[in-house]
Amino acid sequence: MRRIFSEYAYSPAPRAGCWWDETIAAPDWPELESDLPVDVAIIGGGFTGVSAALHLARAGASVAVLEAETPGWGASGRNGGFCCLGGSKLSEPALSRRYGTADAQAYLQAEKDAVALVADLLAEYGIDADTHSRGETQLAHSHRAMARLRRTADAAGQLHEKHELPDLGLGGAFFGGYTTPIGFGLNPRKYLFGLADAARGMGAHLFQHSMVQRIGKTASGFELTTPRGQVRASSLLVCTNGYSSEDLPSWMAARYIPAQSTALVTRPLTDAELQAQGWTSDQMAYDTRNLLHYFRLMPDRRFLFGMRGGLLSSPRAEKRIRGKARRDFRRMFPGWASVEVTNIWSGMVCLTRDLVPFAGPVPGQAGLYAGFAYHGNGVAMGTYCGRALARLALGQPVALPAPLTEAPRCFPLGRWRRAVMPPAYALLALADL
Ligand SMILES: Cc1cc2nc3c(=O)[nH]c(=O)nc-3n(C[C@H](O)[C@H](O)[C@H](O)COP(=O)(O)OP(=O)(O)OC[C@H]3O[C@@H](n4cnc5c(N)ncnc54)[C@H](O)[C@@H]3O)c2cc1C
Repeated sequence: MRRIFSEYAYSPAPRAGCWWDETIAAPDWPELESDLPVDVAIIGGGFTGVSAALHLARAGASVAVLEAETPGWGASGRNGGFCCLGGSKLSEPALSRRYGTADAQAYLQAEKDAVALVADLLAEYGIDADTHSRGETQLAHSHRAMARLRRTADAAGQLHEKHELPDLGLGGAFFGGYTTPIGFGLNPRKYLFGLADAARGMGAHLFQHSMVQRIGKTASGFELTTPRGQVRASSLLVCTNGYSSEDLPSWMAARYIPAQSTALVTRPLTDAELQAQGWTSDQMAYDTRNLLHYFRLMPDRRFLFGMRGGLLSSPRAEKRIRGKARRDFRRMFPGWASVEVTNIWSGMVCLTRDLVPFAGPVPGQAGLYAGFAYHGNGVAMGTYCGRALARLALGQPVALPAPLTEAPRCFPLGRWRRAVMPPAYALLALADL
């Protein structure tokens, strides 16, 4: 596997300290130790791969998920748990300019459908994932950002002026906000394992410690080699997102760029502490910065706070970004400056050059499909794209809008493409001033 960050990024170290690990034990998936024929093989055991497996299994297909590490090891087991709109980094006008109004609107509808899909799956399979809140509030970090919110607010949501925030329990150095009434918070690891249990219950094979090392082509499909076994399948779904490699398959090379995100969790806050900061709401929230912060008070009253991660990955870089996350948290929520941060960790999200997700066939390679690049919003969109990939592999009609199905263009600079990130982050930080 050829990956573009240092090995440290793919090691257990960045995820060490992840809060969700303490909330539910991982299921004990077996390791692949045989030669297994299936209809569909899936690389990656996160939301995309497991949702695909569930939808394939319930349609009667035989399916095997191959996860290199343990269940929930990737971003799906270590994210902020915002089940919300998102997936693309393009604004509605930018989507319309590039893809036309009809496809832009169809894409935005897909973001809404994705949130509804997660709600339906939680209900259908009786998954208790500690869900809470209704919608998501964007909080202005400056007067200018608030003016922009006023200009772009639409009737579907609700605008909040600065003086209204304390009554909403959203106390902090914010200049107002805007609430979108779609989305909810959840425990991502409980959600993922609930989906996985449902898939296994319907006959899907889920394997851990089964890293795909080679994809071979056969007369009837694909042959995947793992350290101790093989899977043969007519169709193959690549669901590796931020943990993708340049050569599995080689079509992926330079079409994605992983980026790190870092999150922390405090100990449970007391009533007095919540009042001291003026933050008593369980609303999911994020600020208006391009390099944004996201935060929510969870049902057990721990506060989760996350932000973009470091550009480098090493023990030193990880220490530095964890320090910055703590400082940003204390600066934005000074009332909790002395509250203990019990957990802090990092993981990989995934971007494309076109700033939209991809879910579709790999051009020119019959039976091969990929789904990735949710731009830091993959709880809902990963689930949705997993279902879309399952339908494609089953040969069912899938009406996906153009932003999702156009093959991502390659980044310039090939395997050195991470060099575009420091100037991009610097420009975004400047725009945030
Ligand atoms: C800190 C953080 C906070 C985030 N917060 C949010 C949030 O609040 N809301 C939201 O919507 N999104 C959030 N995201 C993004 C979201 O978690 C991801 O978009 C989503 O989990 C992607 O799911 P996935 O299944 O596509 O990929 P992943 O969950 O990353 O899974 C990919 C898997 O592929 C496996 N793999 C890779 N190569 C191989 C191979 N060769 N063989 C076998 N297996 C392989 C990896 O081990 C990995 O487990 C966050 C991400 C991070 C890191």
